[in-house]
Amino acid sequence: MTLQQRPSRLTAFVGGSKRLFFLGLGSLALVTAGQLAGPLIMRNIIDVRIPRADVRGMVMSALGYLGLVLAMGGLNYYGTIVVARLGLEIVTRIKEALFSHLLTLPVSYFDKHPVGELMARVESDTERVKELFSRIGITLLTNVLFFAGMLVVCLCLEPRVTAVLAGGLPLALGFVVYFFDKLRVLYDASRTRYAAVVARVTEFVQGAEIIRAFGRGRWAYESLERESRGKRDADVKASMLEYSAMGALGFVMGPLFTALIVKVLAPQIVTGAMTLGTLLVFLEYGRRLFDPIMAIAENIRAVQQARVSLKRIFDILDLEPEPGRGSTHAVCGPSHEARFQHDIEFRHVWFRYKEEEWVLKDVSFRVPRGANIALVGPSGSGKTTAIALLCRFYEPTRGEILVDGTRLSELDLESWRHKIGLVLQDVYLFPGTVLESVRVYNDEIPDLAVRKALSTAQALEFVERLPGGLGAEIRERGSNLSAGEKQLLAFARALAFAPEIVVLDEATASVDAKTERLVSRGMAELTKGRTSVVVAHRLSSIMNADEILFFKEGRIAARGRHEELVAAFPEYAELVRLQFPSVRSAGATEDAALFVPAALAANGGAS
Ligand code: ADP
Ligand code: MG
Repeated sequence: MTLQQRPSRLTAFVGGSKRLFFLGLGSLALVTAGQLAGPLIMRNIIDVRIPRADVRGMVMSALGYLGLVLAMGGLNYYGTIVVARLGLEIVTRIKEALFSHLLTLPVSYFDKHPVGELMARVESDTERVKELFSRIGITLLTNVLFFAGMLVVCLCLEPRVTAVLAGGLPLALGFVVYFFDKLRVLYDASRTRYAAVVARVTEFVQGAEIIRAFGRGRWAYESLERESRGKRDADVKASMLEYSAMGALGFVMGPLFTALIVKVLAPQIVTGAMTLGTLLVFLEYGRRLFDPIMAIAENIRAVQQARVSLKRIFDILDLEPEPGRGSTHAVCGPSHEARFQHDIEFRHVWFRYKEEEWVLKDVSFRVPRGANIALVGPSGSGKTTAIALLCRFYEPTRGEILVDGTRLSELDLESWRHKIGLVLQDVYLFPGTVLESVRVYNDEIPDLAVRKALSTAQALEFVERLPGGLGAEIRERGSNLSAGEKQLLAFARALAFAPEIVVLDEATASVDAKTERLVSRGMAELTKGRTSVVVAHRLSSIMNADEILFFKEGRIAARGRHEELVAAFPEYAELVRLQFPSVRSAGATEDAALFVPAALAANGGAS
């Protein structure tokens, strides 16, 4: 879609601020008119008042000039504020639209677009568009107006002389265009460098620990320095060229043009065909001639950039939201409020992230209400993918997932996700207090419910030991908590939302024996009386499962209860032995030993 085909959306961004736009444009256009009028008042003083020795008139004109200057100052102040306000209104509207749309996009979108890129979209692209419709747009318009105004006044005063002088303009314009074209290349280079520097800084700050741990600090510093120097050199070159161009305009082209004016006008003044006042007007206008030309040349570049930014913003806004969200009902047919009374069924589900790489192959299983299902299998076998499909982060490529016989894709997405309490393998905690992090800023969940969730999840004990308790601050990504503590908080978060179904990807990181006990108990509480689908990395989880699905290369290779599988499926027994260290040192989880068949425990102990 091109920009021309998207006028309605553009109107939505800018239309609401039409009044401000015209107020800003109007007041700055008046300032421009004032700039044009100033020399005309001087002309009146020189040509009319002085020869007549009209002191009163002179004073009046001078006062008029003063009034004009003051009014222009005031209008300029007002106009500038209006334009700034206009810009802020527009950028806020675009950012809101963009961010709220990003929140509705399918998870697969975020797989493909790194954080840095999205930040750039939301931050810098919107800023550029804002500039286009406020400062740049109005600067361009007023400068075009100024230039045209000068031309008109000059033509009215001295048509023939103006025509002669205008002959010198193409030269000046050619000069400006040439320089700004060169500058554009340099500035593009500088921006590319800048992006590289920002990317480096982001990487290095995120990986600060690793860089230090592996003694790569010096290397990081030097490589950043290289990038920065590259940017500096590009900037220096650009500045040199820019100031040379401005210098050339100011010190060479300007005086040359002034000389041209004097050369053309002087003979006429000598013969009396032209007045001194008119010469003054021409000289004044000539002096400022390059201001609008420069301003236009400079801002044309910004217009091009803003067009690119606008296109990128629209490209995002044009993306379809996740199916099943309110706005796509028309496409997918009406969604049903999710209801779950009987069972969830994966029926011949195939799935791939990329062409030709099947991650799930003909996966079928049933989760009756109230059952605890465990997914086990080697890493990369598709377990996490299966639960991602269950949460409808992705749609099955083939086959279907049914809830009480209704296709998952036909259910209202919000109401389905509402039923699920999700705990992912890598726990992400929002920075802020424990309270807000656990209830994800949802005030509808009272403090007491959070406390209860923490208690059930076995997290209350350690939270109360934190300074501030529920009000204790969690740092970014929970960096001030241990892996086990984060896990417990994630349980509490899932519990606080009172889910019907618990979907859990157990963390693989091992924790100390005491935390392990807490996590196991938290798990048991979390799944008690609920339907649960758990990617199990913990022996107690598979022991308690009603059914274990053994994933291998995207297929369910075996299923059954733990004892059955151990007896019937050597591959499973081997995996359990390798994956659950607690089998080898059964002492770590006291009750685990009770569940491990003697043969397996002996086998494990031998390795
Ligand atoms: P498991 O949880 O059993 O370890 P996953 O479901 O995470 O396995 O991954 C199964 C396969 O899918 C792996 O080969 C993995 O590389 C691939 N995969 C996982 N997530 C993505 C993704 N977002 N984009 C592309 N490929 C992915
Ligand atoms: Mg996984």
